[in-house]
Amino acid sequence: MERQIIYLDNNATTAVAPEVFAAMQPYFCERYGNPSSIHRFGGSIAADIETARCQVAGLLGAKFRDKEGCATEIIFTSCGTESDNAAINAALNAVPERKKVVTTAVEHPAVLHYCEELSRKGFTIELIGVDRRGQLDMAALKNAVDENTAIVSAMWGNNETGIIFPVAEIAAIAHSKGAYFHTDAVQAAGKVKIDVEAAGIDFLSVSGHKLHAPKGIGALYVRRGIIFTPLICGGHQERNRRGGTENTASIIGLGKACEMAAANLDEEYRVLKNMRDGFEAKLLASIPRIEINGLGEDRLPGTSSVSFESIEGESILMLLDVLGICASSGSACTTGSLEPSHVLRAMGVPYSSAHGTVRFSLSRYNTPEELDFVAEKLPPIIARLREISPYWEEHRNEKQF
Ligand code: PLP
Repeated sequence: MERQIIYLDNNATTAVAPEVFAAMQPYFCERYGNPSSIHRFGGSIAADIETARCQVAGLLGAKFRDKEGCATEIIFTSCGTESDNAAINAALNAVPERKKVVTTAVEHPAVLHYCEELSRKGFTIELIGVDRRGQLDMAALKNAVDENTAIVSAMWGNNETGIIFPVAEIAAIAHSKGAYFHTDAVQAAGKVKIDVEAAGIDFLSVSGHKLHAPKGIGALYVRRGIIFTPLICGGHQERNRRGGTENTASIIGLGKACEMAAANLDEEYRVLKNMRDGFEAKLLASIPRIEINGLGEDRLPGTSSVSFESIEGESILMLLDVLGICASSGSACTTGSLEPSHVLRAMGVPYSSAHGTVRFSLSRYNTPEELDFVAEKLPPIIARLREISPYWEEHRNEKQF
């Protein structure tokens, strides 16, 4: 029998919603035709894809429809990573005389590693830092953006801490120098209200598996009028902007997931935030020397990044795993040594705390009872690990953080 789990790792990936799964099912064994076909069996599926495109556009506030009623500002991709890469690639091709990308030190590797690659090809990459609260250094951003900047890329909500950036303000700074603005909204889409038009967004990335659609499907919003050079060249799919036969079932699933998220956005935000805030209050009251990263800042409602001083996040995760509790750590295992995450380092979280960071991320399928259970189990786990931590023994009487 499968073990019962408490899944608090929804920023890593989410369960496909049963309604989404049901909407996708006909497209495997019954409606499997190629949407580009002349015959009606395949060709009729193109209309279903257009419905999904409108559902994605609806979640993002992208109101433009062409003469046929299609939300042509949405391009389906294979994932959030592809959307991020494609946006930056398109901007650099749209204004080839500009050779600079401005982004932030806390972006996902989907942006950061692509920028590293661009830097090897001769582009200038400028990374803007954040302060101890995780907020972007807006003065440094203003200084960095200039007439050589093709695009500014800044995420909507951070995947590790949930901290939300002032994207409309950042977009205005980019536009003041004629640069494009891209936001990675992979974690934000479906969790907070997005209005691409009000926020002045040129490009916005979405990933299906973060909002209860399947893995392997994403979307990129591209404001109408932008000349878009595709990253994946091939057939005429996606109006010549993304080659490759459409992943029909997953596109339908993403559309359905976006429709569901849009219909329940405010209520889901409230429920997740209440659960998260209650959980954090319990931890703060019962465990000494912990820090909630970004506490008091505008954050994604279901994300909680907790630093437990003087212990390893991985040890906490292992003991939680024994109880069937799934969360993730703030460390990335690089070159065999456990380095604290680049996000926490950029925020200036001390090493002794950054190493002991655990991310709990919630979804609509979590319950307050589950969070109560985790909040009850954590204090003895932390006490036990600190008992065997030489670092804790040495530093426990020093000033906190
Ligand atoms: N951007 C952010 C902020 C993410 O959290 C992730 C995934 O964790 C990605 C991009 C990459 O998305 P995908 O897994 O769909 O490629």
